[in-house]
Amino acid sequence: MAGVIRRLDEAVVNRIAAGEVIQRPANAIKEMIENCLDAKATSVQVVVKEGGLKLIQVQDNGCGIRKEDLDIVCERFTTSKLQKFEDLASISTYGFRGEALASISHVAHVTVTTKTADAKCAYRATYSDGKIKAPPKPCAGNQGTQITVEDLFYNVNTRRKALKNPNEEYAKILEVVSRYAIHNSGISFSVKKQGDTVSDVRTLSNASAVDNIRSIFGNAVSRELIEVGCEDTNLAFKMKGYITNANYSVKKCVFLLFINHRLVESAALRKAIETVYAAYLPKSTHPFLYLSLEIAPQNVDVNVHPTKHEVHFLHEDSILERVQQHVESKLLGSNSSRMYFTQTLLPGADCSSSEVAKSAANSSAVTKGTSDKVYAHQMVRTDSREQKLDAFLQPVNNPLSTGPAEATTEVNAGPLGGAAGPQDAEMEDVSDLVETADVQQDTGMPAGLRESGHLSPETAPPRKRPREDTDVEMEKDDTRKNMTAACTPRRRIINLTSVLTLQEEISNQAHANLQEMLHDHSFVGCVSPQWALAQYQTKLYLLNTTKLSQELFYQILIYDFANFGVLRLSEPAPLYELSMLALEDPVSGWTEEDGPKEGLAEYIVEFLKKKTEMLKDYFSLEIDEQQHCLAGRKSDWVTTSDRQLRSAAGRPAYVCPSLGHRGIFS
Ligand code: ADP
Ligand code: MG
Repeated sequence: MAGVIRRLDEAVVNRIAAGEVIQRPANAIKEMIENCLDAKATSVQVVVKEGGLKLIQVQDNGCGIRKEDLDIVCERFTTSKLQKFEDLASISTYGFRGEALASISHVAHVTVTTKTADAKCAYRATYSDGKIKAPPKPCAGNQGTQITVEDLFYNVNTRRKALKNPNEEYAKILEVVSRYAIHNSGISFSVKKQGDTVSDVRTLSNASAVDNIRSIFGNAVSRELIEVGCEDTNLAFKMKGYITNANYSVKKCVFLLFINHRLVESAALRKAIETVYAAYLPKSTHPFLYLSLEIAPQNVDVNVHPTKHEVHFLHEDSILERVQQHVESKLLGSNSSRMYFTQTLLPGADCSSSEVAKSAANSSAVTKGTSDKVYAHQMVRTDSREQKLDAFLQPVNNPLSTGPAEATTEVNAGPLGGAAGPQDAEMEDVSDLVETADVQQDTGMPAGLRESGHLSPETAPPRKRPREDTDVEMEKDDTRKNMTAACTPRRRIINLTSVLTLQEEISNQAHANLQEMLHDHSFVGCVSPQWALAQYQTKLYLLNTTKLSQELFYQILIYDFANFGVLRLSEPAPLYELSMLALEDPVSGWTEEDGPKEGLAEYIVEFLKKKTEMLKDYFSLEIDEQQHCLAGRKSDWVTTSDRQLRSAAGRPAYVCPSLGHRGIFS
């Protein structure tokens, strides 16, 4: 049976229409903000309650509404902005349909308080379903308009139920207001919850767009912004804005797009720009973008429905391409000054870069007796945010909790190096050690080093620490006492032809450019356990850390021959088991033909036992009666003369003559 067709009640029609324009509190606020901007306000203050569902109050200091217009201000299609259809093409205001206030008044209780510049007082009126409820009442008020919207959707049950979460609505409100605030620098905006004293978004009228981005999105975004701007007369468009460079990325793209000063969305434009960024940003991360496009009004459909955020315009593809090109060129340009913030994943260093720097500074306290405190900003010469490899390689230990083995290393590794005389070992008075340390430091470099001739030319200026200071430091540190009793070998001069030949071989093969590069590079980050990135001058280098370490440790072995310090193992390592472990490793090249591993391991133990004396002498490997390896070697080879670096790492940084690198291995 066919239904009867009836004409809908006008109020119902209006309410349905209103629900389409105003879908949630944030929509209403956007419309109201646009009205403030149309009224040339320089201050827009928003107060809400329950995510705007209970109350929205928007106060501006604009031109106000004339008393005689208050009667019809909330009626549909009443506007002060458009008179003839032709005006549409040249409209410069946000509003022109006279639909927003009317719509709001059909789904909420609206109160308007307003005062124009030449009115003697302000007037207040309340509205319902587009109509004024009573003649406007005079009241006190500043110039401008305050519009209060209460109980939004009180008469639209379904909508009210759909908007149950005030927090979600409030987040949307903050988003809309902050975007308008960024786009309208020069006008101050604020949003807060009713009853709160502090605003959740607040911009100042003298702040720039970048200032506003900083205050809303934070420093992490604002410091990486690149200004963009291009125009094309043929395509009749202009674009300007700020986009983040390749240093910045987030999980979700933040895209503030204004077309002819309206906050809109364009999936096509977003995609076009994100395609460009894909080449620069880590996988599935995104940029922050704020773009303002001005397109000849005749090329954009100005008659966009208030809820229709997604826009399309004439010559869309060509304009997108131009924008893409421009963004690409800007990203490329910013690339030469790229800055990396890396996080290390190496064991013992699982903290952020700044923390690594800090812990390095802390550990320098261990060597306090021999050097002044080194602050983070002194550790690196160019940029305190820049990391050096030693931050990664150094286990982050609490200096005071280090056992005797570690302490031994500290002494060996200290700036005294091999120059410290054997009398150090007998020294009981701790402050004497400090004194010695100062003297040693003043004389510059250890004697052994002078002979070996592998020093870098610079020497730190002599410095003397105030004594009381060091005494206090030292006495607190009990481990230091044990340490003095531990061995402090004197550096031996090796005249073995074989070793000297190998040293010479290394020096002859040294590659000057590579030396320089390794000396002055900036560490960028680890790509994989094997590959690391380093920047030298304008080029980025991929370093094979496995090969580099092999070379480094080989060179240390050759140059430090018979001069290794001792790193005592807390538990002696059984040689047999070590041999078995080595044989299990495919690298050992063991095959069935070699016979059972057990037999081989026994042979190895016997062999090493025979060489005990030599191993101890040349490599500081001690083997006891039970075939236990008691100590490993710890190189205290050439320490760099760069005191800063050394104390930053809390231990010496090695200079590797042929690689020419300094400070990375400690
Ligand atoms: P539109 O903005 O499309 O004209 P609205 O329904 O948003 O329609 O507003 C209707 C009219 O109310 C506007 O044309 C304007 O004259 C007046 N008005 C609304 N808000 C303000 C305000 N904050 N300051 C001054 N006038 C306002
Ligand atoms: Mg409007």
